[in-house]
Formats: sequence, structure tokens, C-alpha cells
Amino acid sequence: MSNRIILLGAPGSGKGTQARHLAAEWGVPQIATGDMLREAAAHGSPLGLEAKRYMDTGGLVPDGVVIGLVAERLARPDAKAGFVLDGFPRTVAQAEALDRILREPGLSLDRVAFLDVSRAELLRRLTGRRVCRRCGAAYHLVSAPPQTSDRCDACKGELYQREDDAPAAVARRLDVYEKQTAPLLAYYERGGLLAAVRGEGSMDDVTAGIRKAVRGTGAA
Ligand code: ADP
Ligand code: ZN
Repeated sequence: MSNRIILLGAPGSGKGTQARHLAAEWGVPQIATGDMLREAAAHGSPLGLEAKRYMDTGGLVPDGVVIGLVAERLARPDAKAGFVLDGFPRTVAQAEALDRILREPGLSLDRVAFLDVSRAELLRRLTGRRVCRRCGAAYHLVSAPPQTSDRCDACKGELYQREDDAPAAVARRLDVYEKQTAPLLAYYERGGLLAAVRGEGSMDDVTAGIRKAVRGTGAA
């Protein structure tokens, strides 16, 4: 039994929130490259500062940088029983690198769940998004507002709008997604791993959809 799962979806598809929830439920780490890169940037490491230049404008961080980060993360003991990958892979080159990283110790992916959300809905979600600086919880000005404006309900941390949630960067991220990441759907379809899940609807319905998509792999 294993839980080696990828949550695939456009920016704003909700994969971060779902990955956090399901990883906790399954007792495996959520491996979110966006969070790892933002953390590196916040610490001001050379790698983090280089990554930030790409992230702030909505472009992708170079494959080599991200692949190195993920390879290191997957080698840690807590990833042995499985993981939920969130935001990686984002290019076909990253997907091929992941296959190689897993093949080395004789492992493979169990399922790739694709969260399907329309472009209009993605735009609406991304521009209204606010994130807690302290714990990373996500809010939406219209559909999931915090109880006190600008403060996280869970930890009272400050809420902010990510640089890359500004309108121009959002448009760029969606274009980058279409060009570079959407081809992964065909890649995993060919590998027999892909399961599409309707990403619009309530948070709980979407979670249930993902559970159903991975059922039969030992994860749900
Ligand atoms: P979202 O999915 O909402 O865009 P993420 O937090 O996953 O948010 O990613 C934010 C940014 O981090 C991306 O726009 C990109 O610049 C960078 N990033 C994250 N993961 C990757 C990756 N696998 N490859 C390249 N860049 C990445
Ligand atoms: Zn918080």
C-alpha cells in the first residue's frame, strides 16, 4: 500500500488547500514547490532570491532548480510512505525527472488527480485570494472571507496578496499553465495514471472527488 499522489491543476484550482487536507488525512507529507520556493525567498538564500525573480512575474522557476529541491525533499525519511505533490511537476521535463527519481529506488506514482476548473473561475479566485503570512491558510475576499479583515482566523497572522496574484501576473500564470503544464495531462493519461476531478463546487465535494479518484490505490 502506498500513497504517491500528484495533484495537478491550474493556478487557483484549489490544489494547495486540497493537498494540505488530504496529506494530513493520509499521514504523508504535502510537498508544495511553491511554498518551498517562497520559504527560500523569505530566508533570502541565493536560490530563493533567484527563484523570486521568476515567481513575482508569474513565470516558472528553471527546471533544474525545482527538480533539485524535490529530489532532496523526496529523499527525506517521511516521504518513504508516500506524499502528495502539489505544484510539481509543472513541465514535461519535470515529470520525466520525477519518473527517474522514483525509479531509482524502485518506486512509482499511484495516481495523478487533475482538478478541473474553468478559466473564468480561476481568474475570479486568484485575484480575490489572500494568504496568511504565518500559517499559509488561504482566504477569498468574496467566497471565503476571514472573520476579521486582514487577519487569519486560525492563527491571527497577517493576510496579504501574493505578488503573483496581481492581475498581470495572474494572466501570465494561466498562459504559462496552458503552454507548459497542460501537456502533462496527456503525459499521465498515456501512463494510465490520470483521473479528472471536478474542481468547482464545495470544498468537501472536491475533497470527496479526489478521494474517489485515488481509491483502489490504497490511499483512500
Ligand atoms: P499556483 O499554483 O497558484 O501558481 P504555487 O505556489 O504552486 O502557486 O506556485 C507559485 C510560483 O512558484 C509559480 O508561479 C512558479 O513561479 C513557482 N513554482 C512553483 N512550483 C514550480 C515548479 N514545479 N516549477 C517551476 N516553478 C514553480
Ligand atoms: Zn494563519
